[in-house]
Order: sequence, then C-alpha cells, then structure tokens
Amino acid sequence: MADISLITPIEYLKGVGPQKADVLKKELQIFTIGDLLQYYPFRYIDRTKFYKIRQLHPDLVGAQVLGRLVQLQEAGEKKSKRLVGLFRDETGTMELVWFQSISWLKKSLKVGAAYIIYGKPSLFNGQISMSHPEMELFNPQEKKLGNLTMQPVYSSTEKLKKFNLDTKGIQRLQQTALESVYSSLQETLPAYLVEKYNLMPYPKAMLSIHFPQNTEELNGALKRLKFEELFFIQLKLLRNKQLNTQKFKGHRFDKVGEKFNTFYQTRLPFPLTNAQKRVIKEIRHDTNTGAQMNRLVQGDVGSGKTVVALMSMLLAVDNGYQACMMAPTEILATQHYNGLKELLGNDICNIKLLTGSTSAKERRIIHQELEDGTLDILIGTHALIEDKVKFKNIGFVVIDEQHRFGVEQRAKLWRKNSIPPHMLVMTATPIPRTLAMTLYGDLDISVIDELPAGRKPIKTIHFSENQRLRVFGFMRQEIAKGRQVYIVYPLIKESEKMDLLYLEAGLENLQREFPLPQYKISIVHGKMPVKDKDFEMQRFVKGETQIMVATTVIEVGVNVPNATVMIIENAERFGLSQLHQLRGRVGRGAEQSYCILMSGDKLSKEGRTRIETMVRTNDGFEIAEVDLALRGPGDISGTQQSGVLNMKIADLTQDQNILHEARNTVIDIFKKDPTLSLPENRLLLNYLNQHNSGISWDKIS
Ligand code: ADP
Ligand code: MG
Repeated sequence: MADISLITPIEYLKGVGPQKADVLKKELQIFTIGDLLQYYPFRYIDRTKFYKIRQLHPDLVGAQVLGRLVQLQEAGEKKSKRLVGLFRDETGTMELVWFQSISWLKKSLKVGAAYIIYGKPSLFNGQISMSHPEMELFNPQEKKLGNLTMQPVYSSTEKLKKFNLDTKGIQRLQQTALESVYSSLQETLPAYLVEKYNLMPYPKAMLSIHFPQNTEELNGALKRLKFEELFFIQLKLLRNKQLNTQKFKGHRFDKVGEKFNTFYQTRLPFPLTNAQKRVIKEIRHDTNTGAQMNRLVQGDVGSGKTVVALMSMLLAVDNGYQACMMAPTEILATQHYNGLKELLGNDICNIKLLTGSTSAKERRIIHQELEDGTLDILIGTHALIEDKVKFKNIGFVVIDEQHRFGVEQRAKLWRKNSIPPHMLVMTATPIPRTLAMTLYGDLDISVIDELPAGRKPIKTIHFSENQRLRVFGFMRQEIAKGRQVYIVYPLIKESEKMDLLYLEAGLENLQREFPLPQYKISIVHGKMPVKDKDFEMQRFVKGETQIMVATTVIEVGVNVPNATVMIIENAERFGLSQLHQLRGRVGRGAEQSYCILMSGDKLSKEGRTRIETMVRTNDGFEIAEVDLALRGPGDISGTQQSGVLNMKIADLTQDQNILHEARNTVIDIFKKDPTLSLPENRLLLNYLNQHNSGISWDKIS
C-alpha cells in the first residue's frame, strides 16, 4: 500500500487482520501504526552473550542459555502446582519452573528440542534453576532480523499470545511497520535542538529503539525518545501557564495594610520560619503582578501552612477583598476556624465558619454579610461552593489538603467572581520534585521545607506482635503523664469486613487492658454516621478520652497537640505517604512524641523498606522520593487521573537529568520566542496546535 503512514489504522498493516487489530486495540490501545511503533520494548536481550549452565549464578540479572529441553512434568497440587522442565547443555542440567499458564505451556513446549532460553538464575536447594524463562526454539537456519545482537522484548498478554502476538509476533509487526513507513518518517524536533543536544534523528531513533545494532545505538535512541517525550510534556505545560497568565487578569494587591501589619506585629505568637517568610513573599509578589495566581504550597505536616494562609488572606482583606478557606472535613474546618480566631483576636477582621451543620439562622447572616461585604474571611467545607454562597468581592481562595477535592469543586470557587480569585492550594503530601515538575508543571510551587524551631523530632520505633505487652506498658506510662494515644488500623476496601473484624478484636483487647472508668476510649471509623464520628472525635479533641482507636479517617489535618503516641497496626499494609501523614498527627505539642509501627514478623521486601524508611527519617520529601522509587509515579496520590503521566518511554524515577534538560530547554525557548513565531520553531507551534489543551486548573488535582 503506497500511502501508509503513522496515522493509518492498524488493521491495514500487512499481517494484521481485523481479529488481531481488535486485540491490539483492546489489550494495548494500539489503534494506528504510529501507536504500534510507540509500543516500545521494555527490555533487550544481549544476543551476543551466551552462558553455559555451569557458569550461571544467582547474582546474574538475566542470562541466555542454549540447550535442550529434555523433560517436562507437572508437579505439586493445587496451589503449589507447577510445571518443571529439565534443561541441559554440555556443562550440566538445570530445572526450569513455571507456576502459571501450565496447560498452555505443556501444549506448546517441545520436549527434545533445542531452545534458547532467557531468565534469571536463582539458587534453590543448592541447585541453579530458572522460573518462567522466556523460551525460543533454536533454529540455526532462521535469519535473525537484521542480524540482531540486541533482541527487543515486548510485554504481551495471554490474550495477545493466543493471536500469535507474543514478543516475537510483536517484533514481526514492528518490522513490517517500519518497512512500510520508515522512508516517510520525519523529524519532530527543530533542527537546532537536534544539533545542540546531539540527538539521534527521529527516524533513526525509531528504527534503533526496536532493532538496535548495539548498546551504543540503543542508548542514543533511548536518550532521544525520552528527551522528546519529556520535552513535549513540558512544552504543553509551560504553554498553558503562559496562556493562563495572559488570559486571566488577576486582582492586584498592591499594599501591605493595617490588618496584616497589626497581626504580624502584635498577635503572631511566634517568629515565622524562614521558609514561611519566603512563601509569603512569593505570594505577595504573585498577587501584585496583575495576573491571577495559581500556587501550590507543599509543606510537611506541622510546617505551619495555616498561618501562611491566614496572612495571605489578610493581605487580600487589606486590599479590599474577601477571602475564604476550604477544608475537606467539618472537623478540620472547625479546627481552622477556632485556631484562626484565637490567633486573630476579635478586632482585626470579621471571620465566620460555614459547614453542613451551620444553623439556618447563622447561615442567613453569613449569606447577608458575604453579599454586603462585611464578612472578611469565611472558613468552611464543601458548603462554601454551593451556589447560594455569593461573595461581594472574593479575591483570595485557600484550599487545604488539596488532594481531597476534585477539579469541578475548585472550578466552582474559581467562578465565584468575574475576575477569578487568586488560588492557594496547600498540601501536606510532599511530591518529589520530578513528579511535581511534570504533574504541576504549569503551576507555581512553593515549598515550606523547614519545621518551626524547637520541635522535638518524633521517635519512630518498629515493634512486632510479640512485643505488644511492652507497647501497652508504654501507653499506660504516657497516659499517666496526661497524654493521649492514637491507634490506627488499616482499612482497605477489598477486605473491609475482615479489617473491621481486626479493628473490633483489637478494640476488645484494648478495653480489657484499659478498663473503664480509669481509661476512656474513642472509636472512629468510616462506616459510622458522620454525626457519631464527629462526636467521638470531639471527645478526643477535648481530652475526654485518652485513647482514639481509628481507621485512616483521622489521616488529614486533625490537630490534638496533647496526643503524643501514634500506634499504627499492620503498618506494613500502609503506603509510605499514608504512614507519614499518620505520624504527623503527633509531635504537635511541646512534649516528646512517638510513633510505634506494629507489624507481623514476616514482611515483604517492600514492606520492610517502608518501615525502615519511616524509622530512619522524618523528612517528608525524602520519604516521597523513596515512595516514588518503590511504586513508580502512577501510584503516587493524586497522579492517577493525570494524563501527563502516561509516558511511553521516560521514567521519572530514572530520567531526572533528562527532565531538567527538557524543562530548561523549553523555558529558554519561550524566553527567546514567547509566541513560537520564529520559523525554526514552527514544528513546536504545529505540535501545540494539534495537541490543544485547555485551561490548567484541571491539573491542580
Ligand atoms: P500544617 O502545615 O501541618 O497545616 P499547622 O499550620 O497546623 O501545620 O501548624 C502546626 C502548628 O505549628 C500550629 O500549632 C501552629 O500554630 C504552629 N506554628 C506554625 N508556625 C510556627 C512557627 N513559625 N513557630 C512556631 N510554631 C508555629
Ligand atoms: Mg494543615
């Protein structure tokens, strides 16, 4: 077919009928030839290197062996059922073991035939073996694709394999595709960039990523394609940022007024940390540019984000605007309100609280005062975004613990004024820098990376189940000193019933160990009606109960400075960022606080790493980096909905340098050519026109 190109539907590729096209679409979202070519190998086998069985050892990441399959047998029953093969070369024999797809393998593997196998050697009972090796019939006559020395490996699925689309099958398709479109492939980056960064040209990179002749060529292709991918993501993000600044006029706060100064000079009970000062300065600068501010403040739990928010709101009020602050739960909103009121005193400004349980009468007053402009600051929950809530002149919006709110909710606040208010989004979930640059690349980011002076770092200790009596003893000690204790149980959706049983069993045990009337226990979990939950929470906040047994509902923001012990049950089942959030519930007062991680004796490697990381450090950013390395970007909170992370080849945990290079390159380009109207940037302008993206607040979540 003469006019085959990257956008040709996949069914028109030679060797792909309607059926194969169908599975390719369903299983791999491959719709066009271009999609296929962007389905890159995830690994390569070095075909030049063969090992003899005698040379294998368990430290090898992978090894290729030529030998003969001499026997194949099923072993074990039910759960331990497996398929065991004996594989032999002139130096020895080893076992090959499969635990899955047994019947399929039994049918397709040929006993007696020569195979080239690839897998990770491991040591079992003193013998070398491989589990789930890749098996390829050895065929000395077969001409290897372009004399490949590096063999691409594509991930495949059972379904794909049924249509002969195993790694070999996919490789054949890639070859056909490249043969049909190679001559029409065109460079996607401006020539000056290709030259400056010494990048492999696009057509060559596409060929080499699928069929590299050697490692050098492969590395060149990888670098080129990763750079390109990250470059275009940054191009879109920074273009969006540029458009937003142009599109949305913002209120100009051009003075620091009386309320701000009075508060700062006479009410603020502590000196601000340098980090707090820096962020306030950044906000002051942003709100005085005439453009609308969209700023994300990241600060570890306890870093003092609230006071930064308050001072920013005062700035707005001083300039004649109203401000509001939205928190994800009623408890949090109430705490913020009480805390801020206490800090402010009664005379600086008019501040009120609006939540689901605000009385109708109070609500009427609030609505009235909002509309006539006598209410300066409103704190609340989702209730703030109801259409009935109308401001006279809203100029500044704070959103606390942003990951709990959806896009739509933020957009509603945004629309509460003809000129959108400045937005300050605060999060206590630190995000690694690389991720932030990609996820929030079109927002401004401030970081509060310093805790107020004099905080005692929380001591974190790992205990196993058989040390529980010690833990109880420690709890009694702390309670005797007048402190309070949290005990948190995991509650993970799939096993909710089981988890609830655990929690109830744990509670019974506790009630025996800590009997009434000396001890009082609160219990809070997600299945309780909101009212009961709030009631129990309040009892603990007021100090009426000494022990709070809870599921993760207490994770966000709750402030009980008198609580000094956080016990996390089955700690190995929590994610790192969750553990860190939970630990942040203590260490809020002057006393030494403790976090006790309880776990069983048997831990997975990852579970152990998580617990060890928690014991080692209190630094949220360090924890976030480990989290990213363990789980990959797709699982970090808040990233799931974001399309920017559907990367085909770049990897945020490994490609930090390329990311920085790509971002800086884009920044430079926009500096020199803000409208991309120079001829040399035409390709970039075309790209943006084809990949039109909307307003950026949809990325704030
Ligand atoms: P978070 O960043 O987790 O929201 P908060 O704003 O709730 O933290 O602050 C935690 C505690 O630290 C509050 O009791 C607050 O009053 C106090 N705090 C904030 N800034 C300072 C500071 N600069 N010096 C001392 N204490 C501070
Ligand atoms: Mg907070």
